[in-house]
Amino acid sequence: MIQLPTVSAELEERGNGPFEDCVALIAELYPLTHEHLAFERHTEFGLLFHWKGRTVAPDGPLVLMAHYDVVPVDESDDWTHPPFAGVVADGWVYGRGALDDKGPLIVVLEAVENLLAAGFMPARDVYLSFGGNEESYGKAAIEIARVLKERGIVPWLVLDEGGAVVDAPLSFVQGRAAMIGVGEKGVLTLRLSTRGEGGHASAPPTLTAVRRIARAVDRLGPATFRARTPKTISRMLAQFSEQATGPSRLLLKVLAAVPPLTARVFAALGGEPAAMVRTTVAATMQSGGTAANVIPSQASATVNLRIALGESVDSAVKRVRRRINDPVVSVEVLEGSEPSPESETDNAQFALLARALDDAFPGVRPVPYVMMAATDSRHFHRYSPAVYRFAPLEMSNAQRASIHGVDESVEIAALERGERFHRALLEHLD
Ligand SMILES: [Zn+2]
Repeated sequence: MIQLPTVSAELEERGNGPFEDCVALIAELYPLTHEHLAFERHTEFGLLFHWKGRTVAPDGPLVLMAHYDVVPVDESDDWTHPPFAGVVADGWVYGRGALDDKGPLIVVLEAVENLLAAGFMPARDVYLSFGGNEESYGKAAIEIARVLKERGIVPWLVLDEGGAVVDAPLSFVQGRAAMIGVGEKGVLTLRLSTRGEGGHASAPPTLTAVRRIARAVDRLGPATFRARTPKTISRMLAQFSEQATGPSRLLLKVLAAVPPLTARVFAALGGEPAAMVRTTVAATMQSGGTAANVIPSQASATVNLRIALGESVDSAVKRVRRRINDPVVSVEVLEGSEPSPESETDNAQFALLARALDDAFPGVRPVPYVMMAATDSRHFHRYSPAVYRFAPLEMSNAQRASIHGVDESVEIAALERGERFHRALLEHLD
């Protein structure tokens, strides 16, 4: 599967071939799945399998999601094994997509195929939803989510990529944890622009277009948005406090119990902790002017925001306008997607994930968190309340860094445990 370069961002150059080959390969490798599950294609790249359950559960089916496209490889990067060779060595599979997301995809199919071979039927309906363009804004998943909604199907549980079984999730937390994404932040890109008096640089007016934009960007500092601790982060800290040792145990306990304190501490830490508790603003592009000695009559800046759960594109734009507080600076929305809702952790769905974890990774506890990146599952999260982002694969810190990077690889033993997880999930659906 790794030998097929399903690079969605390079579709123009590479053509549909690798994607069609991938669909054919799935059919060849998983014949029982193709025989027993209804198969539909939605748009060119969306694959939807429907496995009828023993009963029609009134509260909806299980949807297992994954994507078979991958991100490009930087030609100048030095891989130990070529990224599209699919080398298997010393118990590991090497190549682009091993972790993101072909590994997680095949462990779903392996589990379904093995259960079919044993004559198993799930307690409720199961859908497998595989997208071929997640890495380039996922039109396939949008369409599949739309089709199911149109058919009146509201999933009971949706599981997609996201977290994983990781080692030492924080430097002072011992052991492993299954990080389960219960929500994802929204994305908003804005263009700030203004016009002003141009002219010769030798006699400048006080407030030029460039200075106005610089001032506006400066006003959008880290404190633009209020820090607030999502329920999920408090739960994450409470879970970690049970695993921690020494003084950090008490600290985590206190932080878990006092959300306003967590918000303040995390905001002060900056970087990733701050991003967990507030909407972030990053100026990413600025322009204005074409000559060294001419004052330009217009200037602009592009800012990229990641919207915290509980806020919205609308409220974020309003806040930005208020903070800039300059009627001459216009704020234009280039692109916006709302943050997802937050899935619960005290429901039957989360308990089922914990149960399956126990089978595949005994002793590893599920820990909820909020994802900074977007997944295909957000299209389901608009109308389905129980959406979780977790691939049942163990990933070291180095492995996580290899996603979208160099030397992406997965251990075969980890794939076997991933298959075990999905089998347990399907077996305990009742
Ligand atoms: Zn992915």
